[in-house]
Amino acid sequence: MMTLSYRAAVLHAPHTPMSIETVTSAALKPTDVLVRIRAAGLCHTDLEVIEGSLRYPLPIVLGHEAAGVVEQVGSAARGVKAGDHVVLSWNPHCGHCFYCDRDAPILCEQYLGEGPKALPFDGESRAALSDGRVLRQLMFLGSFGEYCIVADQQAIPVPKEIPFDRACLIGCGVMTGVGAALNLGAISHGDAVMVIGCGAVGLSAVQGARLAGAKAIIAVDLDPAKLDLARRLGATVSVNASNEDAVTAGMRETSGRGVDVVIEAAGSPAAFRVTTEAVRPGGQVIWLGKIDVNKDVSFRWGSLMQEKRIRRVSYGNARPRRDFPWLSRAYLDGSLKLDEMISRRIRLEEIDEGFAALKRGETIRSVVIFD
Ligand SMILES: [Zn+2]
Ligand SMILES: [Zn+2]
Repeated sequence: MMTLSYRAAVLHAPHTPMSIETVTSAALKPTDVLVRIRAAGLCHTDLEVIEGSLRYPLPIVLGHEAAGVVEQVGSAARGVKAGDHVVLSWNPHCGHCFYCDRDAPILCEQYLGEGPKALPFDGESRAALSDGRVLRQLMFLGSFGEYCIVADQQAIPVPKEIPFDRACLIGCGVMTGVGAALNLGAISHGDAVMVIGCGAVGLSAVQGARLAGAKAIIAVDLDPAKLDLARRLGATVSVNASNEDAVTAGMRETSGRGVDVVIEAAGSPAAFRVTTEAVRPGGQVIWLGKIDVNKDVSFRWGSLMQEKRIRRVSYGNARPRRDFPWLSRAYLDGSLKLDEMISRRIRLEEIDEGFAALKRGETIRSVVIFD
């Protein structure tokens, strides 16, 4: 294949605006797939890179929640063909390391080893600046550009009926939240579930709890607008933690026992502390949020007792080839609501303002639309 020139948003340094520039792709390797990006969501993890709290080599193309059309596949690419509509996965894995053999692709040694370099597994960038300098790709993707070269295992075909702007959400936020509720065996029919933090991941966890048959779904946030949205997506109780204690509310809904499952999607020490206080003996706590890795979180020891199960999860125990298609069908049959989660549709040139709005807490998801 010829190399290709396309527009992408390039981050040259933290705390600076991204520059929209023409970059070039490398030639496809045998297991590569060239995807024409049609929609890409703005996620908090991208924001962490912009703000320098998550460090990667630069310059880099951010973006790891995307959907598009397969333009071309390499000679040995499997499971995907030109013309397929795909949602992209950010968890390529080798399939035969210590962790892959233990069914934990998110811990794959190659994935974790190569991830910080922001290059594909073979260490060779698939994109370059116009002057030839290496361009890194965040999380094996880098979807804030018109095109993206990914490994075949990252391009997951989904039904063509789902619009790209809705489909892209499945690639990170929705998978993370719904997966936490459904893939970890965490929620049983009739359970009381508390979800702390009602951004894209938390709202997806609310929906996962609803799909799992939870009876009470207690949404906790500080923003009345996000709590309203949580109610529309399935929460039965909303708690504004700025004027109501979430633990007390959880006890009230469960006759003083504590909730069966708490899913944390806020990423603050205060939220982490609430999780172990609110869950019942023998119940499950799932942490999805992130804080600075060098920060401490303190817990009351008593809140950790009584057979409580606590787990930190990154990608909802995703198996993209299994999960992306059914999540797409759940949208199409009306059981998974995605329209409500898109706050703004923006052009690539508006991406800095999109992240500023995310930081101000004004948006659930802004989605860059490419035409
Ligand atoms: Zn993300
Ligand atoms: Zn592996």
